[in-house]
Amino acid sequence: MNTKEVIIATERKLSCLPEGGKPISSYFGENTFSTRELRTRLPMDAYKAYLEALEKKLKIDLALANEVANAMKDWAIEKGATHYSHWFQPMTSLTAEKHDSFIEPMENGDYIERFSGKQLVQGEPDASNFPSGGIRTTFEARGYTVWDPSSPAFINKSGKGTTLCIPSVFLSYTGEALDHKAPLLRSINAISDSAIRMMRILGNRRSRRVFPTLGPEQEYFLIDREFFHRRQDLVMTGRTLLGAPPSRGQQLEDHYFGSIKERILTFMHETEEELYRLGIPAKTRHNEVAPSQFEIAPLFEEANLATDHNALVMETLRKIAARNGLIALLHEKPFAGINGSGKHVNWSLADDLGNNMLNPGKTPHDNVQFLVFLIATIRGVYHHADILRSSVASSANDHRLGANEAPPAIISVFLGDQLTKILMDIENGAITEATNSAIIDLGISRIPVLSKDNTDRNRTSPFAFTGNKFEFRAVGSHQNISFPATVINTIVTESLDILGDKIEAGGPNAKQATMDVLREEIRALKPILFNGDNYSQEWEMEAKRRGLPNKKATCASLPDMVSDKTIKLFEKYRVLSEVELKSRYHVRIERYCKKLDIEATTLHCMTSSQVIPAALEYQARLASSIERTGKVLGGGLDMSPQKELLKETADLINRVINTDRALVAGRAAALKITDNAKRASFYCDEIKCIMEELRDYCDELELIVDDELWPMPKFWEILFIN
Ligand code: ADP
Ligand code: MG
Repeated sequence: MNTKEVIIATERKLSCLPEGGKPISSYFGENTFSTRELRTRLPMDAYKAYLEALEKKLKIDLALANEVANAMKDWAIEKGATHYSHWFQPMTSLTAEKHDSFIEPMENGDYIERFSGKQLVQGEPDASNFPSGGIRTTFEARGYTVWDPSSPAFINKSGKGTTLCIPSVFLSYTGEALDHKAPLLRSINAISDSAIRMMRILGNRRSRRVFPTLGPEQEYFLIDREFFHRRQDLVMTGRTLLGAPPSRGQQLEDHYFGSIKERILTFMHETEEELYRLGIPAKTRHNEVAPSQFEIAPLFEEANLATDHNALVMETLRKIAARNGLIALLHEKPFAGINGSGKHVNWSLADDLGNNMLNPGKTPHDNVQFLVFLIATIRGVYHHADILRSSVASSANDHRLGANEAPPAIISVFLGDQLTKILMDIENGAITEATNSAIIDLGISRIPVLSKDNTDRNRTSPFAFTGNKFEFRAVGSHQNISFPATVINTIVTESLDILGDKIEAGGPNAKQATMDVLREEIRALKPILFNGDNYSQEWEMEAKRRGLPNKKATCASLPDMVSDKTIKLFEKYRVLSEVELKSRYHVRIERYCKKLDIEATTLHCMTSSQVIPAALEYQARLASSIERTGKVLGGGLDMSPQKELLKETADLINRVINTDRALVAGRAAALKITDNAKRASFYCDEIKCIMEELRDYCDELELIVDDELWPMPKFWEILFIN
């Protein structure tokens, strides 16, 4: 790209300065239809009936739905909405909406705005264009959406359009889940039941409800739109398929927590303003490790809400970036050689009284309860590390996991030294009673524990206990967090049940029985505990000795979603049926193939229509320059270094042409493979290698060919100019 164009890109003005000044609390949640809003708009009886239905998860009858719909419509129209839409999360990573206008004809030919309970409760998008992994071909062809009252409706403003969005699940007519939300809700129900049962076993009578909480820390890159649009790879695949690393990457370590540039801060401010209006508690913003990489983290919320909110955060990042002449890249690895983006999903369990089950308390009872929930979680992770791994498997995340920036594909649990010691003391019999001072001490010495964990911050662990919650760090930046959350909920549910059964069977002294069960469980789950460096070679070998799974590639990991063990577990808790699991597997393996196919095709297009022509032009200039110079100097100077350069260029061009041909042939061979699993392996084992080789040659050419001739912006421009 030429220098003048770079300068034009940098001179982009801040599109609109934020109003600023208004306290967040004065507009927080104003674009969500909260229960508070509903109370002012519904008769008291109806309002109470609605709350009761929500709390007890009862069916909302049509009369009540009509009242709620009408109130919702009035509110939305006051906010400027003209349309409504069921908003749902199909098995792609995107959200989906189909807008309908509120207007309806009256008998006299006039039109008025109307929104019925029936329209609120159920929608019928044409499901045929969403992936179903075979469910629709096996069963009935159509799908429908159903309102999820546990997540508030909200106003979506985009350009001139204002739409009332109604969070919904998406089901087939035969009742199978076609989306991410339905299984998440089922898993929340499952863990709530098992957690409450466990609380009762441990003697807690006060808590009425237990539910999972999530706090996803979202990483992303922000680049100038100008650069983005000049790169076919970014536009088509979300990541660069070519590009030599810049001379300065992140080695100076000056970006993380660095001061935020004005243009970026304006973007962040506008994004947060929009999120606050949607009732999303965005709390933290900062620069991340790589140049032009950032993070936004909300306060944690109930899992279903947090999941919807994360989807909205991703949409809002994209929308506000565009408004500011920027592009938010959510891909897990937009730039080779530069840190990728993940999402640390913080997970815990809370009760309706505001207690966190993974927060060590001050009494023996609190701490035994804490230990039980802690061990149940670790146990679940140990027994189902393979499912957890598969829940984050994607072609994009493959570039990240294990690349010394993100945890490896081996799932292990980090507890920190102090907690590990306590568990070991319980296991080896040094602590036998709940009243042991080390157990009481758990809560009191929590502050030093926390600060210690924060300083060593074992960032290499995929599943780390960080004081009062677990942090699942292998999740990809652009993925919907529902499935990983669904998996954690389900595997912990099973462990809570198993522990509960054992404690109940352990005799009349529940306290002693609990300690006995803990000891036995700790002994069994020791192999999953690892506080060391997850990036090291030694760990990979050690993990193998411990029998921990290490599925490095998506195509190797995905079959674990449909193993007999997985099917049995998910069916037992009615989270996903065998058909639903298999459909998810098919969708994901198919998407893997499609994504790699798009990447291969894009790389071929860029190579043949951009890289090769630019390189040939440079080669021609070089050749004629050498020829003419030789003539003028008449053999008075040794021209061999220049001829060497020409030869090197020509040789690289040949390699590019040959490898590009191999890529085209490889892709044709891939398309002939009808079995998706086999095709996925072929992409993984063959096509990816060819792509990497081709990239290497192109990147070498990038460093040789005249900068003015290079047909696309380079990493240094994209990453350092914004
Ligand atoms: P760090 O930045 O060291 O990882 P923070 O305390 O800043 O830790 O928390 C990071 C994320 O963890 C935030 O999004 C926060 O909301 C979330 N979080 C904190 N407590 C919980 C919890 N009990 N359940 C789920 N997420 C939580
Ligand atoms: Mg964190």
